[in-house]
Amino acid sequence: MTLSHAEYQAIAAMLTPNGQAFIDGQFCDAADGDRFETTNPATGQILAEVAHCKAADVDRAVAAARRVFNEGTWSRAEPEERKEVLLKVAQLVREHTHELAVLESLDTGKTINDCIDEIGGEVPNFFQWYAELADKTFGKIAPTGPGAMALITKEPAGIAGAVLPWNFPLVMAAWKIAPSLAVGCSAVIKPAEQTPLSTIRLAELMREAGVPDGVINIVPGFGETAGKAIGLHNDIDTVSFTGSTEVGRMFMRYSGDSNLKGVGLEMGGKSPFIVLEDARLNDDLIEHAAMSAFWNGGQNCSANMRQLIAAPLVEEFTGRIIERVKGFTLGDPLNPATDIGSMISKDHKELVMNYIQSGVADGAQMTMGGDSDLPGYFVEPTVFQGVTPEMKIAREEIFGPVLGIMSMKTAEEALTVASDTDYGLHATVFTQDIDRALHMTRSLPCGTVSVNGFSEGDIKTPFGGYKQSGSLARDNGTEALEQYLQTKTIWVQTATD
Ligand code: NAD
Repeated sequence: MTLSHAEYQAIAAMLTPNGQAFIDGQFCDAADGDRFETTNPATGQILAEVAHCKAADVDRAVAAARRVFNEGTWSRAEPEERKEVLLKVAQLVREHTHELAVLESLDTGKTINDCIDEIGGEVPNFFQWYAELADKTFGKIAPTGPGAMALITKEPAGIAGAVLPWNFPLVMAAWKIAPSLAVGCSAVIKPAEQTPLSTIRLAELMREAGVPDGVINIVPGFGETAGKAIGLHNDIDTVSFTGSTEVGRMFMRYSGDSNLKGVGLEMGGKSPFIVLEDARLNDDLIEHAAMSAFWNGGQNCSANMRQLIAAPLVEEFTGRIIERVKGFTLGDPLNPATDIGSMISKDHKELVMNYIQSGVADGAQMTMGGDSDLPGYFVEPTVFQGVTPEMKIAREEIFGPVLGIMSMKTAEEALTVASDTDYGLHATVFTQDIDRALHMTRSLPCGTVSVNGFSEGDIKTPFGGYKQSGSLARDNGTEALEQYLQTKTIWVQTATD
């Protein structure tokens, strides 16, 4: 249920966010007592002092996780037991939706409506879906002759590390925690330094739900400190990372330089939104085009920021999308009337503004948007037309509200331009021709292609990238479980007489 602006402000005024680490079932400071501040990017207000965890804290968290893993209280519990506890986590998140959503909105600058959708829906649904898989994940029996029985069994990988981004903090935490705990792993989680608060609060709810001490550990800190310590730890068995391609590369190196832990990577994108000549250019298409680009202020890995439009439609498309985007309200993220909140930080706003300047310098036509004079780190939704494939704004991930429209002469040209990128996370195609739709979906080198609507899929469908958008690992769906499972073959010689 949506509340009023005043009601959200009242919840915000009551919050006293906890910034401590959570290790072995206890909230605690970093071993050296170091802290950093987390602020509200929409106002600059300091929200909390947060424990700055380093290698010593990661060591403590991993030791606790290993102890409980070896004891077997969670890893070898009846799967129904893990299911019950994770269902309780889902229930507690639902009961605390408004509080968690306000906390998330304050820490990220995301709109309260998005936070309510994510925390009232996706986050508890994840815990519920993976809870229900806990007692439905089976191995196989391979066919053999009568002299043997071959069991292919699945075991929890052990200690799962996760290093998270700031753009969907609690959703990303749920994406990693729910499947890893469902199969019996213990976890050590590092939220992004910009947005640790909702994940710390989640740990408290998980303890209340009955997750045993040591099974879930939260080590807030920076990439160079806590993140690197997770990547290099010799007793973490698998690490799941979501963030930039640049840092994803480091996790591959960390693994090679330490214990060759499994590495699952979900990274950046520069995803195309393709409108073929036969598409119906109606309000629905325009809504999908606008939301695919400006949802979460464009701070979304699957944002469709390259919009490749058939030449005969490009003028009408551009006019209509500008009209739609002018309808977005930028402002106080806690106001339910706001459509686009703040960028995550001053540095990130500067980065986005530099891209806007490069678009102008490269000769693209900025039809609307640019800097905002609101206090905080706001950027107006920005639309460029006349973008060409070699421009920097067409090639690099901007991670802000900057949409580039390109005119395409043919469907094959759209396919070539769409594919000419190091990324491969997502693509959308609009066409009424089933043959062209199937040709496009099969030809585009990316992890998700949606047709006649922008969608990342849902819990049931795997999400991840081709090329430099990801490793072979996937989040979501039953595929996510593979990141947290080992496969063991048990070969039993049997008597034949
Ligand atoms: P980032 O790579 O800078 O940071 C992500 C995490 O890595 C943070 O927790 C950070 O502290 C940590 N980190 C940074 N440097 C590190 C280091 N040297 N060693 C270990 N850890 C380190 O990314 P970001 O700015 O938080 O997030 C934005 C990026 O995430 C974008 O590129 C976006 O596309 C991507 N993303 C991808 C997905 C997906 O599922 N594919 C989802 C959300 C975001």
